[in-house]
Amino acid sequence: MRLLQERIARDGIVKAGNVLKVDSFLNHQIDVELLDEIGKEFARLFKGVRCTKILTIEASGIAVACMAARYFGNVPVVFAKKSQSINLEGDSYVTKIESFTHKRVYDVIVSKKYLSSDDHVIIIDDFLANGCALMGLTDIVKSAGATVEGIGIVIEKGFQSGGQIIREMGIPLHSLAIVESMDDATGTVKFREE
Ligand code: 5GP
Repeated sequence: MRLLQERIARDGIVKAGNVLKVDSFLNHQIDVELLDEIGKEFARLFKGVRCTKILTIEASGIAVACMAARYFGNVPVVFAKKSQSINLEGDSYVTKIESFTHKRVYDVIVSKKYLSSDDHVIIIDDFLANGCALMGLTDIVKSAGATVEGIGIVIEKGFQSGGQIIREMGIPLHSLAIVESMDDATGTVKFREE
């Protein structure tokens, strides 16, 4: 997605440790118009795919998922919650996710009320790095007996392993911008052309 690549090139900040900061339009301040275009693009890419719910994870996935939902026939958005102490009453699906940016393991939960075996789910998130977040979310969908119909990612870091793992699982994956390489010394970001 050209508009997104241009924005990353202009406003993204490359940090040491393979972290790309996009706080000025996606992860802290939000450019709603850009997110609207992102939502439209996901709808174009997943046209004809059955979707009863969009699943994401707090916090940064929520805005993207909500904008996309407007173009998926206003399906509900469910966001997985990161929790320090899980409530083990059995009313939630639970999985563990290791955070790439915070280097911590979280319990992540979704209430059984909001995901069932009838659901056809598109998972949407802001970043794909090593794929831990997506593995956790697909795990939750499987626990519910629901179907993952596809995954939409705003920025994939193509030099990390997550994209390959997900593609090898056979799940349709659309990343709107794939970073091929980035350099914190020069601040440059190179994209994979598809
Ligand atoms: P993964 O689980 O694929 O290793 O990492 C994905 C999650 O980590 C995303 O939900 C995102 O919040 C965070 N993340 C991973 N890499 C980056 C990055 O370079 N920049 C930012 N802003 N977030 C990242």
